[in-house]
Amino acid sequence: MKPLNRLPDRFNYAEVYLTLDCNLGCGYCINKESGVEKREELTSQQWAEALNKIDFGDVAITLGGGEPTLHPGFFDLVDRLDNIDLLTNLQFDVDEFIDRVDPQKFSTSDIPFFHPIRASYHPSQMDKDDTLSRVKKLRDNGFNVGLFGVMHPHQINDNMEMSFLSQREGIPFYTKDFLGRIGTQMFGYFKYPEGVDGNPKDAECRTRELLIAPDGDIHRCHRDLYHNENPIGNVTQDFKLEGGGLDKFRPCNNYGNCNPCDVKAKTNKYLNNVECQVEIK
Ligand code: SF4
Ligand code: SF4
Repeated sequence: MKPLNRLPDRFNYAEVYLTLDCNLGCGYCINKESGVEKREELTSQQWAEALNKIDFGDVAITLGGGEPTLHPGFFDLVDRLDNIDLLTNLQFDVDEFIDRVDPQKFSTSDIPFFHPIRASYHPSQMDKDDTLSRVKKLRDNGFNVGLFGVMHPHQINDNMEMSFLSQREGIPFYTKDFLGRIGTQMFGYFKYPEGVDGNPKDAECRTRELLIAPDGDIHRCHRDLYHNENPIGNVTQDFKLEGGGLDKFRPCNNYGNCNPCDVKAKTNKYLNNVECQVEIK
């Protein structure tokens, strides 16, 4: 039997974008801001076959999107995978989810405040009480869910209110920095501020994330994935992760138009250093 394709040790994240479709229409949407293009979608069987050929080590397979639960084979795929995380807006049938998904499928960690199901709260689209009751129902049925609100300047009051209500219900609620431009002002903290200055430059770049688009294309960053450009390979075909396309620095002439998520500064998971998902020279 062929050995498993091993995720390089440098990698700390793997996300599968099952679909870029979404059932909400938020005013500020990182996907829309990033110029997302509609993509073909692999079936659950194609995903399962491809992903089960990869040795992810202790890195969870994060199912994301768009809204990943909209993928027609979502439940079938969850059945066929282990050690998964889920990024969701919670707009699915919670009873069906509880009925069809085994909580043991999700990753676990010793890291405090870890939640394999990370639910986003979008104040303009989601009712607070309804959101809390969805999280409570999932929690009471064995799922570890954290709720996250983005600190967009127009959402600060809603997030503060949600923080209060969540605390009252014993639900973990966190805020995340808003990353992006409003008018001429760029919001966020960046390891590479020149990556978001809007002036394209030449650079060499490599990633610590495995990012796979709905059609199976593997991209080195969110900018390329959302623009459907420069795939390194496709997860359904022969490709080499360790020592291969994603493990080396590659030339890029879009340094300056990076997606803010890729070049932001963030604390590492041990909370003792500042990291960034890409390295740029
Ligand atoms: S839930 Fe997320 S992907 Fe969907 S519209 Fe809102 S911000 Fe965009
Ligand atoms: S420099 Fe920016 S746009 Fe280019 S590959 Fe790196 S993160 Fe992507």
